[in-house]
Amino acid sequence: MSDLEQRVAETIRSRKMILPGDRVAVALSGGKDSTALLMLLCRLLPAWDDVRLTAITIDEGILGYREDTIRSAERLVGKYGLDHIRISFADLFGGSLDEILKDRQSGACSVCGILRRKALIVAARRAGATRLATGHNLDDEAQSVLMNLLRGDLPRLVRDSSHNSSGQFIPRIKPLGLVSEKEIATYLMLQGAWVDLPECPYTLHALRREVRAMLSTLEYQYPGTMLHLMESKRKIEGYCGEETLAGPIRSCRECGEPCSGEICQFCQLRQSLGR
Ligand code: SF4
Ligand code: ZN
Repeated sequence: MSDLEQRVAETIRSRKMILPGDRVAVALSGGKDSTALLMLLCRLLPAWDDVRLTAITIDEGILGYREDTIRSAERLVGKYGLDHIRISFADLFGGSLDEILKDRQSGACSVCGILRRKALIVAARRAGATRLATGHNLDDEAQSVLMNLLRGDLPRLVRDSSHNSSGQFIPRIKPLGLVSEKEIATYLMLQGAWVDLPECPYTLHALRREVRAMLSTLEYQYPGTMLHLMESKRKIEGYCGEETLAGPIRSCRECGEPCSGEICQFCQLRQSLGR
């Protein structure tokens, strides 16, 4: 087993991300991170007691970008012989992301993120999943910490959706959360699984793009910056009670899904889009 596989196995074990009998839905976009995640989980699978994986792919409908990644996802699922659930924004929301965002370039990632979260929940439920695994890596996680700090969104900074103490949602796990983008790229190259895919055209308008560039520079000049950010988040969490970490779980007035306010983000978005 490679060093990276051992580290991921240890992260999963120490944080109790996957337990015997779990049905794990793996969010597979077909991009680098989710490809590495699926490969790693398939490698580790034989060591786990009665755990099953199902790949789930969301087709947002982004012309010139999504077609290649979906083909890549299908090839990978075929190689490992897994069940594969595919859901498109068009089926679920009546239009592709391109159509939904027509004449509206800013905030694309917020819209996409909210709709994709919803689509992942639908797909994970169809898969009968007890866990939903996503390919977020250390870079993504450190960027999110910094973005939440920049926005002053402390509740979101500390909210933990990896455990379902309230029994209201499928826990989301991030087995690559301490693995950097560079390490994932190296792993894929060594495994002969590197795929050169286009970048989503909407990233041009995202705050995350600027935060990413800033953090990359800092990481280069001061190695360990991203891990230190994650460490800071963990320390802040240490000052919060269980209730704060779980967030105030209520039921959305419109759809009944668990949320922290009166109306969930998905229903707010649906109303603002007039859908
Ligand atoms: Fe969606 Fe933004 Fe990611 Fe593109 S970059 S897939 S719009 S979240
Ligand atoms: Zn709702």
